[in-house]
Amino acid sequence: MDSTENLILRGRFAPTPSGRMHLGNLFCALLSWLSIRSKNGIWVLRQEDLDPERTSRKFAEQLEEDLLWLGLSFSEGGTKGGKYAPYFQSECEKIYRRVFLKLQQSAKIYPCFCTRSQLHGANAPHLSDGRVVYDGRCKTLSPEEIDQKMKKHSPAYRIEVPDEEISFEDGCLGECRENLAREFGDFVVRRSDGGFAYQLAVVVDDIRMKVTEIVRGQDLLSSTAPQIYLYRLLKAPVPRFYHIPVLLSPDGERLSKRDHDVSLETLRKKYTAPEILGRLAYLAGQLKEPKAISAEELAAHFDWSRVPRENLRIPAGLF
Ligand code: GLU
Repeated sequence: MDSTENLILRGRFAPTPSGRMHLGNLFCALLSWLSIRSKNGIWVLRQEDLDPERTSRKFAEQLEEDLLWLGLSFSEGGTKGGKYAPYFQSECEKIYRRVFLKLQQSAKIYPCFCTRSQLHGANAPHLSDGRVVYDGRCKTLSPEEIDQKMKKHSPAYRIEVPDEEISFEDGCLGECRENLAREFGDFVVRRSDGGFAYQLAVVVDDIRMKVTEIVRGQDLLSSTAPQIYLYRLLKAPVPRFYHIPVLLSPDGERLSKRDHDVSLETLRKKYTAPEILGRLAYLAGQLKEPKAISAEELAAHFDWSRVPRENLRIPAGLF
């Protein structure tokens, strides 16, 4: 390895290609790109197509084309490839399997046969924000019980977490902390269909792609402590996280890939790329008013301290 390699900042955009990008995905891509571009780092595109039912190559290719149309060019990844290929998670099965086996040596990983309704039913422990914390009921199954259940169902696999608080300094939110056992619980690293789970895949890929900076929505904030726990088990350096506000519709709803008004398909018919970027940069606190501007011009003056911390409603009429 080149000795300067570890000094280079590497950021990534890791979309799930399950539809056309919407303003929320784009907001994340833009802030991630600006942060890296303003520091002359390398921006990597990783396609998180772990779920074959929901994702497709067609969406992945469209997404690349949309990014390039906007001027958010990537140095590595997607169909362009690069030295840490594969950049499509659907091609990484063997890599995840190897890490899964390695993790089994340093942590307890156990089969879980719980159904969705057992996990999410009224009796399951819920946190105040509605999240469910797994109660660990499959952890105490005897080997005989496991054998019996295996005959009927294939299990998911969970990794046991310690009753420990993990804290980290978020570049957007400041100090964040989470108790792994009480606020997240033992989590799934392999799904019951045999596929590897998001929490495992994302960490394995960010480690092997030497990612030093992760910009993503605050909706993923609760996943960060468990992911840091995996970094620790894998003895890998933890990247810097920036959890950015989630964009909401003017009436406060989460944006959806099914909502045509916020989809790039519609937006590209109405606006030029600099007009879209300027409006998003305005929401991100980078411009006093929305005006047409290129990605490169924005990068020259990008400042994290101006990015709001709270989730943001898109003002009616802005788009
Ligand atoms: N693929 C995830 C998503 O589209 C993002 C993963 C991440 O940024 O850690 O929501």
